[in-house]
Amino acid sequence: MRFDIITIFPTLFDSFLNESLIKKSVDKKINRFLIHDLRKWAKGKHHQVDDRPFGGGAGMVLMAEPIIKALKHISIKALKHKNKITNNKQQITNNKTLTILLSPAGKQFNQKMAEKFSKYDQIIFICGRYEGIDARVEKFVDEKISIGPYVLNGGEVAAMVMIEAVARLQPGFVGNCESLKEESFNNDKKEYPQYTRPEVLAVNNKKMKVPPVLMSGDHKKIKEWREKNSKK
Ligand code: SAM
Repeated sequence: MRFDIITIFPTLFDSFLNESLIKKSVDKKINRFLIHDLRKWAKGKHHQVDDRPFGGGAGMVLMAEPIIKALKHISIKALKHKNKITNNKQQITNNKTLTILLSPAGKQFNQKMAEKFSKYDQIIFICGRYEGIDARVEKFVDEKISIGPYVLNGGEVAAMVMIEAVARLQPGFVGNCESLKEESFNNDKKEYPQYTRPEVLAVNNKKMKVPPVLMSGDHKKIKEWREKNSKK
């Protein structure tokens, strides 16, 4: 799966993409990440990407033009599809690319969306900053998504959250795909409590024991205990 990220802070993604399972998935060619510095599509020697809001008010707003140019560069087909521009030489349907605008005012992201989004070939993320993005950009996106009911400084962390949730669902991302089946939110349940060694943990003179059934070796009983302890 290919992920394109439009941002004014491209280096924020350096460590995120170069560690752990995300990095391994790139090495294994399961996922591909392309970070696009929005300033590349800005005009003038200062590469200005923001301006004051019409109507007044605090802060700056990211301009629509550089973002639309970036989208055009990344996926000219997707842009044409959204605008219903017809061109004899180009097919205008491109259902396999999803363009997401990150916004606290968007639909709240959840595991069901992660599963749905994981079926696309390509996701383009537009990361806002400052007071947000010129609203005209919304005409060029498929979804406006929030990662939760709070305001972040920018869309980059939100994009990382969504990338982790979507990328790990790609076949081959996790070593044992069985581990995805029993996770929280599958069948609308939250995963049962997990324990590892030591069997008895001493903290502040108190002994914390692992539920004995988990050490019984009785798979049927363990399954029952786990089902009972999965929260709705
Ligand atoms: N003025 C905006 C408002 O009140 O809704 C907040 C802008 S916020 C400081 C700057 C950018 O961060 C947004 O354009 C968006 O891309 C991103 N952002 C902030 N909170 C977010 C959230 N909960 N989910 C997704 N993106 C978020």
